Amino acid sequence: MRLRFALAALLPALLSLAVMALVADRLARRALDDELSARLVVAARAAAAALPADRVARLEAGQESTRTYGHIRARLLPVARATGTRLFVVRPDRTALVDSEGRIPIGEPVPALERDRFEIAEAAAGRAMASQILFEGSDGRLYKTGYAPLADEAGNVLAVVGADGNAASFVTLRRFRRLLGTVAIAGAVLGALVAALASLSVTRPLTRLTEAARRIARGDLETPLWRRERHDEIGTLRDTLEEMRRALRARDEERETLLAGIAHEVRNPLGALDLFAGLLAEELQGGPQAPHVSRIQSELAALSKVVEEFLDYARTRPPLREPVDLRLLVAEVADLAAPLAAQRQVSVSFDGEGEAKADREQLRRAAVNLVRNAVEAAPAASEVELVARAADGEATIEIRDRGPGLAPDARASLFRPFFTTKEKGTGLGLALAKKVADAHGGTLALEEREGGGTVARLAIPAEPTATRTLTGRAHRGAGAAHG
Ligand code: ADP
Ligand code: MG
Repeated sequence: MRLRFALAALLPALLSLAVMALVADRLARRALDDELSARLVVAARAAAAALPADRVARLEAGQESTRTYGHIRARLLPVARATGTRLFVVRPDRTALVDSEGRIPIGEPVPALERDRFEIAEAAAGRAMASQILFEGSDGRLYKTGYAPLADEAGNVLAVVGADGNAASFVTLRRFRRLLGTVAIAGAVLGALVAALASLSVTRPLTRLTEAARRIARGDLETPLWRRERHDEIGTLRDTLEEMRRALRARDEERETLLAGIAHEVRNPLGALDLFAGLLAEELQGGPQAPHVSRIQSELAALSKVVEEFLDYARTRPPLREPVDLRLLVAEVADLAAPLAAQRQVSVSFDGEGEAKADREQLRRAAVNLVRNAVEAAPAASEVELVARAADGEATIEIRDRGPGLAPDARASLFRPFFTTKEKGTGLGLALAKKVADAHGGTLALEEREGGGTVARLAIPAEPTATRTLTGRAHRGAGAAHG
């Protein structure tokens, strides 16, 4: 689109520039040519007027040293000098009579005049005119010739006078052309620059809008759009998109508040149910109904896991910013995941260094969920690696496993609450981790690991960034959850 835009702006400009240069060149050339032609014809006419036609026409071969010849040349010379031309007289059949420089023998045909056959014939018919074609003289310069009839007193044309003139003005034309070329190229470069800038000024905000729309599509409703800086269509588009983002977020918030309220109401009776199921299990111990009760107990456990995890998810508030020792954090996380790892015969190695300004509790919950996923995906006897680092203003926590990797069609939905591919999954682990990453102005990505498996990478700015405005979104949800 950028290219199309630039071309649309540039092509007409270039085209008109080229046409203009061409027309200017033509006009200048024509003007110079006409001017030169007129000058040469005038010179030829002046010479014709100065010459005694009868005596010139009577010149014969071999008379080059006669007085008559000298006399005639003497008449030609001042005209030649005055007009800056070389003058010659030929018969209508283009054989030489006399010339101002006295070089061509009388009666000799002049082959060089072949090209001006038409003009000489016209002059012989009484119509003075200049040659159409420029020719290169022995000095390498361009010449043109004007022809005029040489007539006796009765008006009979006896010979034709030619005036060769140097087309010096064509040097100027060449210079003019070079100038035109330079101007055209400079114009094209300038045009290209302006077109590129203009196209950038349109496509850049469009790219930004596209990015923002993509972000929203990915479910990031927290990051506000850039502040409005233009009052044109693009500004309006930005406003509309921002409005849409706010509306979506408000809807999300409402739904979450509602769910958190329900989860909270469910949690209390769940506790009681679990207590009584425990009592019942003791009473029925060894009896035929014992398996039913233990089934009730395991379903209750699953249910309270969903409720707890959801409340955890909904409770995520704007993060505190406390110094978090990453080494201690990973040790703690590995510890929390140890029971699950032992049960699945997976070992968890951990390594951490550096510090981040973040919400320790939220970071830990996010990391625990990621490690749990890794342990659940990892084959028995394999190792899950947990590494946290702070570098280049960014703190990253990486969790690597040797599991089967992500299902291709799961990729798009990973961070959606309640998306799970596991029979007993809640689908809230990644949603929570993502929420924590977003709240910290960071990112969460799950990637294929080299050699098989998955790498989950949670990255947050090591220092909070001032530009992010965190809204009270989670406050309301948390209010209900704590309520
Ligand atoms: P749950 O663990 O309850 O299924 P999560 O939100 O934690 O919910 O994960 C969502 C889904 O993402 C999982 O069901 C699984 O399909 C996929 N997933 C997450 N982590 C991994 C991993 N390390 N390897 C493979 N798949 C994973
Ligand atoms: Mg999980």
